[in-house]
Amino acid sequence: MTSPAGTAEHGARLDVRRLRKVYTGRGEPVEAIRELTFEVKAGELVCVVGPSGAGKTTLLRCMAGLMPATDGQVVLGDTAISGPPRGMAVVLQEYGRSLFPWMTVAENVELPLKEKGLPKGERKQKVRDALEAVGLADVPGSYPWQLSGGMQQRVAIARAAAYEPQVLLMDEPFAAVDAQTRFDLEDLVRSLWQRLGVTVVFVTHDIDEAIYLGERVLVLSARPTVILEEVHVDLGAERTQLTTRSDPEFAQLRTHVYELVQAAKRGVRTVEEAHLTHPAHIGGDA
Ligand code: ADP
Repeated sequence: MTSPAGTAEHGARLDVRRLRKVYTGRGEPVEAIRELTFEVKAGELVCVVGPSGAGKTTLLRCMAGLMPATDGQVVLGDTAISGPPRGMAVVLQEYGRSLFPWMTVAENVELPLKEKGLPKGERKQKVRDALEAVGLADVPGSYPWQLSGGMQQRVAIARAAAYEPQVLLMDEPFAAVDAQTRFDLEDLVRSLWQRLGVTVVFVTHDIDEAIYLGERVLVLSARPTVILEEVHVDLGAERTQLTTRSDPEFAQLRTHVYELVQAAKRGVRTVEEAHLTHPAHIGGDA
């Protein structure tokens, strides 16, 4: 199979510096994010977990340049983000709303390539490669509404992959698909990540998913959000749903992150306060 990466550049570094977000509207201001500072290295896959309402989506939208921060900044490579930057692709949970229903699968995948100004022949080739990479080579002429939810999400991933972004941001992309499809899509993300060398930030509320996918898991506190802990995941590059998830290290990491998230729900804001039963340094220098 041809790699959809083609001549893709390697991923870019993302720096989140003292990011703060306060929603101000008609009612009381809501301080969603108090202060977040972290770095995602070029080509790294980092997952973000935290309780519901912790500010995960807010963080991702600020990182994507879809919403201005109140304070602090997000720096992509050397440039502070002030709007959706070139070289970044975003995949959201609501696949139903992210694809254009009046366009075929192939047209949906091709659209950002047109915006990128690629010539027709190259666009067609990249669309074919990307659809093949996500296992949808046989439905380029179908419309999104003719496909299952899982297939639609594959189209969204193919669109992001064909664009060859330096950074891929994903916000709970598999929350609405069935468990089996979810496993397949997780493997798809890891294989695309490995092939494209893209920097990935993946937001999920699913602890197992975060550990299975990530090289690192950022655990957020409850609102107003700070980072409770950065957990390093040392499960190796080659992961499979069966062996990785039954690895004792995986189980330890799950317990550790689960306890952190439970502590976050109780309002705990530092690891010291969390009184973990598995506080050991698991999987590296976490
Ligand atoms: P998560 O993705 O972790 O569930 P969100 O980022 O969606 O969390 O929300 C974080 C907090 O910010 C929540 O308390 C939510 O109610 C609040 N919030 C989100 N969007 C808005 C908005 N547009 N206006 C006011 N408050 C908001």
